[in-house]
Amino acid sequence: MPPAPARREFRCPACGRDTWLLKKPRYDGFVRTGDALLCALCKHEFADESEIPFKDSAAPRVFTEADRPRPVRVFDESEKNRMCRHCREYVVNPFIQRCGLHHCEVEATDTCPAFAPRPPPAPAPF
Ligand SMILES: [Zn+2]
Repeated sequence: MPPAPARREFRCPACGRDTWLLKKPRYDGFVRTGDALLCALCKHEFADESEIPFKDSAAPRVFTEADRPRPVRVFDESEKNRMCRHCREYVVNPFIQRCGLHHCEVEATDTCPAFAPRPPPAPAPF
């Protein structure tokens, strides 16, 4: 099977969605005068390809800037060992991570002066 033609993807400034370029032949009478450049989703027309914020085709990127994970924080070993996620008071459920000692919301990577190491994991309750 031949590979699908590469879509030229971009984030449309008109509708704000990730979309791709739609080219529609434009005619003046019967004379083809060029292609209309449209957002495939909202049909916003661009006057020129230079207006279109194409994604870098050399290095295809699935994620946009906004999706990029926050910069990785580097922990030294002692700090790592004090992180809330390793603490016996750390409670995590689908909605919130909290400290059972201070009754506040925490991040897994927070550190706490009252850190107490979690005992080795018990066998799964399920
Ligand atoms: Zn659009």
